[in-house]
Amino acid sequence: MNTIILDVRDPQYYDDAVVLVRSFFPRIEVVKTDGNEAAGDPVIRHLPQQDSLFVCPEIPDADAGEDKKTRHETFKRELYRALSAFTGKTLPWGYLTGVRPSKIAFAMLEEGAAEERILEEFEKKHLCRDDKARLALTVAKRERQILGMRDFSDGYSLYIGIPFCPTTCLYCSFPSYPIAGHQAQVEPYLDALIKEMRAAADIMSGRRLDTVYFGGGTPTALTAEQLDRLLTALEDIFSSG
Ligand code: SF4
Repeated sequence: MNTIILDVRDPQYYDDAVVLVRSFFPRIEVVKTDGNEAAGDPVIRHLPQQDSLFVCPEIPDADAGEDKKTRHETFKRELYRALSAFTGKTLPWGYLTGVRPSKIAFAMLEEGAAEERILEEFEKKHLCRDDKARLALTVAKRERQILGMRDFSDGYSLYIGIPFCPTTCLYCSFPSYPIAGHQAQVEPYLDALIKEMRAAADIMSGRRLDTVYFGGGTPTALTAEQLDRLLTALEDIFSSG
């Protein structure tokens, strides 16, 4: 198959549909159509004489009293079920895309939900596999444990951003540049970063640094020597604070 033609009658659901269709059909082009198909057509069908698939997901009834988040979840769940039935495939994380699954489990734990209830939510609502549901719960429990060790009154957290990656992913929304084309900027960036770390340590003097987060970008896009310089500076600057 070459192309998937996607007909989403309400534009607010279009992005949900594209991401999910691509998860079932990776590397196949997805194009949009303007919705000229007759009502009552099957949600998914092969187009005759073309190497294409036509997907027309059902849109939740906006007057049914559900809030926006629930309507999007309903839309994704129904489209997932249709795609799964059509392809015979399931996805390990169900229809969850673009979210950190442990965040869902974390929020539920914070609200006091029982573990069984959280697992049920992952499996029945988000259509995740049992092992993935359990993984999200395990990670969320560990996150809570770690957060419980933090000093919220006198401690602080540090974020170190490395805005370089081996290549740039098409969907990236982070500040990131392909490192091969920006080699000349890496060392000056590290110089400026270390200067800023010193300034941050001065500002936070008297408080305890209890979390350091490296992000980007891809911190490991740096060479071992560059990472060593950064980590050594981190230790020098903050261990004396
Ligand atoms: S920051 Fe992440 S998503 Fe963005 S280009 Fe780098 S690896 Fe890809």
